[in-house]
Amino acid sequence: MSKPVVAVVGRPNVGKSTLFNKLVGKRLSIVDDTPGVTRDRIYGKCEWCGHSFTVIDTGGIEPNTSDILLSQMRAQAQLAIDAADVILMVTDLHAGVTAADQEVASMLRRSGRPVILCVNKCDTVGEPPVEFYEFYNLGLGDPIAVSSVHGHGTGDLLDHVVSYLPKEETEEEDTEAIRVAVIGKPNVGKSSLINHISGENRCIVSDIAGTTRDAIDTEVDNSYGKFIFIDTAGLRRKSKVTDQIEHYSVLRAQMAIERADVCVIMIDALTGFTEQDSKVAGLAHEAGKGCVVAVNKWDAVEKETGTMESMRTKLQGDFSFMSYVPIIFLSAKTGQHLKDLFQTICQSAESNKKRIATGMLNDVLAQATARVQPPTDKGHRLKIYYMTQASTCPPTFVCFVNSAELFHFSYQRYLENRIRDTFGLTGTPVRFIIRERD
Ligand code: GDP
Ligand code: GDP
Repeated sequence: MSKPVVAVVGRPNVGKSTLFNKLVGKRLSIVDDTPGVTRDRIYGKCEWCGHSFTVIDTGGIEPNTSDILLSQMRAQAQLAIDAADVILMVTDLHAGVTAADQEVASMLRRSGRPVILCVNKCDTVGEPPVEFYEFYNLGLGDPIAVSSVHGHGTGDLLDHVVSYLPKEETEEEDTEAIRVAVIGKPNVGKSSLINHISGENRCIVSDIAGTTRDAIDTEVDNSYGKFIFIDTAGLRRKSKVTDQIEHYSVLRAQMAIERADVCVIMIDALTGFTEQDSKVAGLAHEAGKGCVVAVNKWDAVEKETGTMESMRTKLQGDFSFMSYVPIIFLSAKTGQHLKDLFQTICQSAESNKKRIATGMLNDVLAQATARVQPPTDKGHRLKIYYMTQASTCPPTFVCFVNSAELFHFSYQRYLENRIRDTFGLTGTPVRFIIRERD
């Protein structure tokens, strides 16, 4: 389910992306036709000693002058402080300790968050060179010598990372609270929603056991269930700088998404759908999370008969790459339709972790293939021998077929829809893995 987030921060050229690639490997993410999703890989999964977590490269700083560099470094560090479970600060042995490093280190130190200092480009094995000891001056404890290019020291680094992570939870899934991330462009009303919900529910902002993040997320316990609204990088304490730069909006969303079970993609009813909305939604879709589209500021829309339905139809077109997504209309200001929001979140969470027995799945497969014959090509017909669910969150199905090539997208869509209809899988992406077998 949701995973801890490790954020990599540091000046340009210290080797953040090299380290990132070393840690997460170069496995390609699942190819998807989601429009508008950035192809730059800013996050990846990492597993070490029975822990799995997400590593996010905060990169993307384009320094022009040292002023801009410094303000962007501050923004980057603040984002990591707000949203990451562990912060990995990367420095460069050859460049030594710079003023920007000192500035960032002091911010990180004051935050009290778990920080690991990594001195990169220590390419020779053995005792670190004398320059290495200079990094103790940053006041972040023992630096770890790493060579991202060669991979030296990365094991040691990962040992330190996991020492800060909570033990993996295994049981009691059903009684667990649903972790919700509210994501969307600046000004759509995300903080207003969190504020409304916490006011209404007399929220307990508490130290949630088993996580290293405390006193930031909002716990809500109401008649619909238990929820934890993830504070996406300081929703309560907004930062002008990070809000204005799209790179940071995306990073901020990504960090929240990783830690969530369900993502509420918030859009503004007054401005309507924009490209940036589909980008944010695409991130949640690609991450395989439960999804809900919430159209906010519904109180301020001039309504006539059918306004909601025509807007819904339009949005279904805009979000056609995630046709499963429920669309609800609400007002964070007045609290109108919040009931719908909670119900829909529960439904999406349920679908996302649904497990379907193999027998039932294959019954649906048999009916579906009897109703619409699988495609043929040059006398060969697609045969789907067998299907089984490999994993949940999102539901992932393995299909054994005679020829992957014959299993066209349109037929996959058809099967997907049959499965969705039969088992009520609304509000979650699903995945298919195709395996050929003679
Ligand atoms: P970023 O801007 O912090 O993401 O830095 P990059 O990962 O793009 O690396 C900047 C430069 O440093 C590239 O030329 C890398 O090849 C080089 N580099 C990264 N890691 C190491 C290392 O461990 N040793 C050496 N010698 N060079 C490195
Ligand atoms: P965020 O940047 O997404 O967190 O957005 P905010 O919560 O700061 O809201 C941006 C602006 O939209 C503020 O001026 C809010 O008062 C306003 N706003 C938020 N929700 C609603 C709503 O449901 N109805 C109306 N009319 N205004 C809203």
